[in-house]
Amino acid sequence: MQDSINKKESVITINGLCKSFGELEVLKGIDLTIYRGENVAVLGKSGSGKSVLIKIIAGLLKPDKGKVTVLGKQIDKLNGKELDNLRLHIGFSFQSSALYDSMSVYQNLAFPLTMNVKNLTRKEVDNAVEEALEAVGLEDKIHELPADLSGGQRKRLGIARTLILKPEIMLYDEPTSGLDPITCTEINTLMIEVQERYKTSSLIITHDLTCAKNTCDRIAMLIDGTFLKIGVFDEVLNTNEEQIKKFFAYNFI
Ligand code: ADP
Ligand code: MG
Repeated sequence: MQDSINKKESVITINGLCKSFGELEVLKGIDLTIYRGENVAVLGKSGSGKSVLIKIIAGLLKPDKGKVTVLGKQIDKLNGKELDNLRLHIGFSFQSSALYDSMSVYQNLAFPLTMNVKNLTRKEVDNAVEEALEAVGLEDKIHELPADLSGGQRKRLGIARTLILKPEIMLYDEPTSGLDPITCTEINTLMIEVQERYKTSSLIITHDLTCAKNTCDRIAMLIDGTFLKIGVFDEVLNTNEEQIKKFFAYNFI
């Protein structure tokens, strides 16, 4: 974590980001910079706009106002093809894992690879699949179907599928939701291993305070559409802001 952060190079820069759906103002002026090598957690109650934020960064939703720059590209200025190219560098681990249930573990990984990188030999695909499976500890599941995997293994497969394209940025939307505490800890460890191995920078949406504390360099508190506080875990935890104190009082172990 801390040692590998390059404070001179930001991979995500967000200024004054606003997003509404009809009358509902979800994001009301978001500012955030994520530096290369950094893991940042976004905390906030359900419905506060965390998934909307991550989808905007991934180019899946358009901002109404403000500037979002990802790997040096201002995303709302990109055309479809440019956005597709940028997305190749962004791994998005969905809340639901979004696996292809009728495909084997091998096919779940080979498919996004061959869709996005043309003219690979069978051997190159096999090697890439094996490497991604090894990174998440699922080598022995290569011929299984997702339905035959446990919840934690499905999460691992979802992460492997994003790693197959060697992303520079990882976006995790509640990677440990619905998992037991031991599996949560394993996924938290995996996220750190991924960062070390693939040199990724990550934004991690989580309700898991242990994850925020142990896996992330900084945390950002999303409250009422803005980041009320961004800082290292203890600094945010010890803030005097009423709404933040309330959030931690309800969430603390
Ligand atoms: P969370 O912080 O739980 O991830 P979300 O980002 O999913 O919250 O949603 C924030 C708010 O925006 C919610 O009230 C949700 O209903 C609303 N919202 C999200 N996506 C859409 C959409 N595509 N259309 C309309 N409303 C949406
Ligand atoms: Mg969400």
